[in-house]
Amino acid sequence: HKWVYAFGDGTAEGHAGLRDLLGGKGANLAEMSNLGLPVPPGFTITTEVCTAFYDNNRQYPEGLEAQAEAALTHVGEIVGARFGDPANPLLVSVRSGGRASMPGMMDTVLNLGLNDETVKGLAEKAGDERFAYDSYRRFIQMYSDVVMGLDHHSFEEILDIFKEENEYYLDTDLSAEDWKEVITRYKRLVEEELEEPFPQGVTAQLWGAIGAVFGSWQNVRAKTYRRLHNIPDSWGTAVNVQAMVFGNMGTQSATGVAFTRNPSTGEKLIYGEFLINAQGEDVVAGIRTPQSLTKAAREAGKETKPSMEEAMPEAYTELRAIFERLEAHYRDMQDIEFTVQAGKLWMLQTRNGKRTAKAAIKIAVDMVKEGLISKEEAIGRVDASSLDQLLHPTLDPDAPRNIVATGLPASPGAASGKIVFSSDEAADMKSHGEDVILVRIETSPEDIHGMHSAAGILTTRGGMTSHAAVVARGMGKPCVSGAGSLRIDYARQTMSVMGDTFHKGDLITIDGSAGQIIKGAVPTRQPELSGDFAQLMEWADKIRKLKVRTNAETPHDAKTARKFGAEGIGLCRTEHMFFEDERILAVREMIVADDSAGRKKALDKILPMQRDDFRQLFEIMKGLPVTIRLLDPPLHEFLPHTEEEVEEVAAQAGLDPEKLKRRLGQLSEFNPMLGHRGCRLGVSHPEIYEMQARAIFEAALLAGEQTGAPVVPEVMVPLVATKNELDFLKPRIDAVAEAVMKEKGARFDYSVGTMIELPRAALQAGKIAETAEFFSFGTNDLTQTAFGISRDDAASFLNEYLTNGILEQDPFVSLDREGVGELIAIAAERGRATRPGMKMGICGEHGGDPASIRFCADHGLDYVSCSPYRVPIARLAAAQAAV
Ligand code: ADP
Ligand code: MG
Ligand code: MG
Repeated sequence: HKWVYAFGDGTAEGHAGLRDLLGGKGANLAEMSNLGLPVPPGFTITTEVCTAFYDNNRQYPEGLEAQAEAALTHVGEIVGARFGDPANPLLVSVRSGGRASMPGMMDTVLNLGLNDETVKGLAEKAGDERFAYDSYRRFIQMYSDVVMGLDHHSFEEILDIFKEENEYYLDTDLSAEDWKEVITRYKRLVEEELEEPFPQGVTAQLWGAIGAVFGSWQNVRAKTYRRLHNIPDSWGTAVNVQAMVFGNMGTQSATGVAFTRNPSTGEKLIYGEFLINAQGEDVVAGIRTPQSLTKAAREAGKETKPSMEEAMPEAYTELRAIFERLEAHYRDMQDIEFTVQAGKLWMLQTRNGKRTAKAAIKIAVDMVKEGLISKEEAIGRVDASSLDQLLHPTLDPDAPRNIVATGLPASPGAASGKIVFSSDEAADMKSHGEDVILVRIETSPEDIHGMHSAAGILTTRGGMTSHAAVVARGMGKPCVSGAGSLRIDYARQTMSVMGDTFHKGDLITIDGSAGQIIKGAVPTRQPELSGDFAQLMEWADKIRKLKVRTNAETPHDAKTARKFGAEGIGLCRTEHMFFEDERILAVREMIVADDSAGRKKALDKILPMQRDDFRQLFEIMKGLPVTIRLLDPPLHEFLPHTEEEVEEVAAQAGLDPEKLKRRLGQLSEFNPMLGHRGCRLGVSHPEIYEMQARAIFEAALLAGEQTGAPVVPEVMVPLVATKNELDFLKPRIDAVAEAVMKEKGARFDYSVGTMIELPRAALQAGKIAETAEFFSFGTNDLTQTAFGISRDDAASFLNEYLTNGILEQDPFVSLDREGVGELIAIAAERGRATRPGMKMGICGEHGGDPASIRFCADHGLDYVSCSPYRVPIARLAAAQAAV
């Protein structure tokens, strides 16, 4: 069996198509090698080995060692060196790389193959002793950390002390002799901590590192990352062993990272950073402030140190040409790592770059215009859920800002929240409903959960490609990085700048687009949805087949949804209107009324209010379909709670307070969600539904006259379990319609349908459709009733279901295709068998979830309905489902 795939020297055994087997990094190294780009030679140990390793009690499959060692010999032949040769040593990096990119989540070891002997050979060969010992100290630190589990902080501390003793400021201030001394101290640390010397055997080093990379697939942060990004454990990682090239070989050497377009804005400008005389990890770690790649960027940032364009013009020109080549080849924006060794450029990685939603849209639209991709591809290039980042308010540009410090605009958007200094605290406060800004000197992969919980991230160290910046952009969270004027004191839990001291819990705002840190909260403004966004949406609207409606009951929500492109209202929950202002009093009066006469009296007060609400919604929707659900929740939700409220209602209804309390007692239920609610209310109190139907029909006529667009209201009866319930209620609604038409001397169209939100209703859909004229799948309740899980109580146990893999996803967020989905499929099929072409849609949270939207498209539903802010997401997801 083939476990090892070689690359380098203008050829490769693999290619980009073998991503599952070689991991993203390995597949792209092979691809670049095939393209003839300068890639240091190496080989990839496949993901199958990782899987076999874990399946087989952490043992490697047969044949692996021989294949790897043969490949290593071949690498040595290409570069003209030998692994472990004291005179002419080959050094390698051992790099992880799974199918999906997991930046910084797993470990890499550089400069492997160094020991007390080979370091001398390296120095000799390079004619540079300082470089050789710099590489050796890096290797000892990395290997000890990654393979032997010694915390890198201990090494950094030794180095810091050494620098202090010698009054050095930068790592580049250290001479070869200095590094030798540091190395002696490093090795002593290893011996003291582990009671064994640092390993000198290069083959042991190699297998140690390979084992550590496979081991890192199961480390805590990799597992967390996979859980957050829905990456299956079973995919495994590949290991890449690659000849080292050295960016730390003096002033004509450098290491850098670049994006072929700006990953924040999408602009077609090279974007990146490099560090002279450094190795790869230094850029990300923020040890020194990196320099810009282009002259233009240097000037824009008013930097003093030269850009790569100026400092290394030849390598830069070659790099630019490679960028263009890679973009044309992959037809997407690339995220690239490179190293320059003594003036010669080497490519170390390329992948499709992560980007903000804004950048994703711009790049997709631009690439269509450049003729690189089709409109359909452009639609597929934007993660529909990520649009969320664009739809939310940004800081009001006219509001005053008390800017206390600035940093780098590392990830766009703005957020206000309370300061916290640790990720655990961020997670904790978030779980108590607080918005927090995570403030750290720098972040590391251990901070993922805190970053996930925070509304925004602020660091005082690190550049645009630092961990904080990259991860925040991926999460779509605002981030300001490298705010160097801030002083963070973790012990005192303070952040101070120029005399101002902020404490944990103080409110700040960060503007990740401007790099600003602002005292207090700043008012926000609605986003502009024009330009590239509008263009992409226009393409999406042409392609999609599903209609997109919104769930809305207030004029404000309805207007917002229209602005976002909603094509009607799929769910108007009438009861939400009951709480407004003095209405609740009339509603309470209705509920506690003893008899039908008392109830009618109260309903007469509510009627004009409801009519007016509906009229406004109909007017905003200008003839677009509007589905109004009749009263659904258990009545007790509206009941008075405090003594004061009880007295008030008693007075209003002309009831004795004691009698009222008894009545309240009668209304209480053990399990209200399965109790007296939905159409059961309509059955017990038909006058409630009759009043609502009258309000709807009268409003429809009024709005139709007002806008000139006839309104065709869709009256929806909730929580139906049997056809008989509907047979009881529908004639009453029809009678109201007849009466209104007669009174007003005008005719109108309308329909009466039902929600399918009980398993019994789904199964009986064929019969129910004899009466119901449309179905709307109420997937929130359908999920609750299919699983028998209360949505309001699920939080306390659902997490264990997710972490233990019992459920793949929260079924209240993404539709459970297997169970709930089957109920929907059955209902749709049986409903249409009875009533061909019957209109069907879905309302509830799932209507805004891309995976659930795909399901709706696959099952031929007519529309999805979601909250206003998710309308654009649904439009794009519906288009993605159609291509
Ligand atoms: P990550 O996935 O965390 O980026 P990488 O395997 O890409 O890890 O490596 C970490 C750093 O080391 C990167 O900056 C990379 O460019 C650099 N690097 C990896 N292999 C080599 C090599 N053979 N020569 C020089 N630098 C390397
Ligand atoms: Mg990398
Ligand atoms: Mg419901």
